[in-house]
Amino acid sequence: MEKKMAEDKFPAWRGKLEYQCLECGATWPASELYYSCPKCGGILLLRDTKFDELKKTPGHEWQKIFDNRATTRIPALRGVFRFYELMAPILDEEDIIWLGEANTPIVEAAQRLQNQTGIRFAFKNDGQNPSASFKDRGMACAFSYLKWICRVNKWQEVLTICASTGDTSAAAALYAAYVGPPLKSVVILPKGKVTPQQLSQPLGSGATVLEMPGVFDDCMKVVEYLADHYRVALLNSKNSWRILGQESWAYETAQWQAWDMRKTAVFIPIGNAGNITAIMSGFLKMLALGIIDTLPQIFGVQSSHADPVFRYYHSQANQRQWQPVKVRPSVAQAAMIGNPVSFPRVRLLAEKYQQIAGEEAFQIIQVREQEIIEAMLEANRHGHIACTQGGECFAGLKKAFAAGQISRDCFAVLDSTAHILKFAGFQEKYFQDNFEPEYEIKPDKKLRNSPQPLLENRNREEIPDSEIGSLGGEELARLLQLQPR
Ligand SMILES: *Cc1c(COP(=O)(O)O)cnc(C)c1O
Ligand SMILES: [Zn+2]
Repeated sequence: MEKKMAEDKFPAWRGKLEYQCLECGATWPASELYYSCPKCGGILLLRDTKFDELKKTPGHEWQKIFDNRATTRIPALRGVFRFYELMAPILDEEDIIWLGEANTPIVEAAQRLQNQTGIRFAFKNDGQNPSASFKDRGMACAFSYLKWICRVNKWQEVLTICASTGDTSAAAALYAAYVGPPLKSVVILPKGKVTPQQLSQPLGSGATVLEMPGVFDDCMKVVEYLADHYRVALLNSKNSWRILGQESWAYETAQWQAWDMRKTAVFIPIGNAGNITAIMSGFLKMLALGIIDTLPQIFGVQSSHADPVFRYYHSQANQRQWQPVKVRPSVAQAAMIGNPVSFPRVRLLAEKYQQIAGEEAFQIIQVREQEIIEAMLEANRHGHIACTQGGECFAGLKKAFAAGQISRDCFAVLDSTAHILKFAGFQEKYFQDNFEPEYEIKPDKKLRNSPQPLLENRNREEIPDSEIGSLGGEELARLLQLQPR
């Protein structure tokens, strides 16, 4: 069928979304806020009951639609809603918020680094999102939905609330500040366990910030209690609207690769396991619609200091038992979670994924703290902006490659989930060799970098302005043994 170039119009298609309980199968209407099944407490995912109608459009048509939309001038379609029909196709144009999130670059690793590693790979820099982490993808969808539901129900005030390892609260506070009333943002952080940069973000956005003793898992319990007993909008990844938004990572990765996922692997750090859920879900949806015809290999990566998902999949298949772990300090702090809320989602989707694409299509890798931070430093010394979780993915790639779990002719896309600047404190601890012993990190002096003094012991007041250039310049030239020209 011959089709004209798509017009730059907001899509007319509307789906029909409902929550589906992964435990008992009950379904609940999308016109209410649900975070767990009212019947059995099970975790939910959103399902489009009209999804099969999308199959009437062939996969290559969808590719064209999404490729055309890549140049849209409609702000609502510039972010995660480029993939509107796969996202939340019940929202109207006026509901959709776009703060510049999504469409982050996939930057091929420096050639030297690829040669050294022995395999082709790239970082998808999700730190280039507005609040500097991938969490903006989920928030763009969740907040657009909140706008819709407030409009439809004429709600006067809605408190948005989340527990956070740092980035969820930064993203939630940013989007809440942009929307304004009727939304108000409250975030709960584990005291001393988010970086100063991450703490400054919700404060700067004007959110109410609460710090409590304990770790993320404790904050989560407070938030869950509130969501069960009060009318609040929970914004952790238990919120299935966030999962939908985060599926966009998979759509973009496929689009970037011209919808060809053969010989491709993706590496995702696992914390609360929302992101890996979303990414598997996204690839499965594209496969169902014929938009891609192969599933990429998925590697989830965990630190040995917070590795419940790794432990689960590395026990005998017939003896697997879900067991939360007590976390120990980790430089991959945004993934430092002992009882991931989305684990039941992962188990379900991983099973589907492996049924279609084989056992090796979904694997979990465990890495050590030392490997994580050094992989990050190595990446950044080759021109990247990887955060500690990006370093975790790179360490995972090296490990998978060494163990033969990924073949030499594959191309790996590593999710660098945040910007390095959020985690500058860990780099500093490494350079100054002052990690607390629980991190189990012994810095390699060769990787150290620190500022060196110039014109030390000189009093600036005593140097005339006309001489500062030559004085400093000559000292530097001696220091670096420069040749005069
Ligand atoms: C939240 C977060 C993670 C972990 O993602 P989950 O969806 O919780 O598994 C990893 N890296 C960064 C930077 C994060 O903010
Ligand atoms: Zn249920």
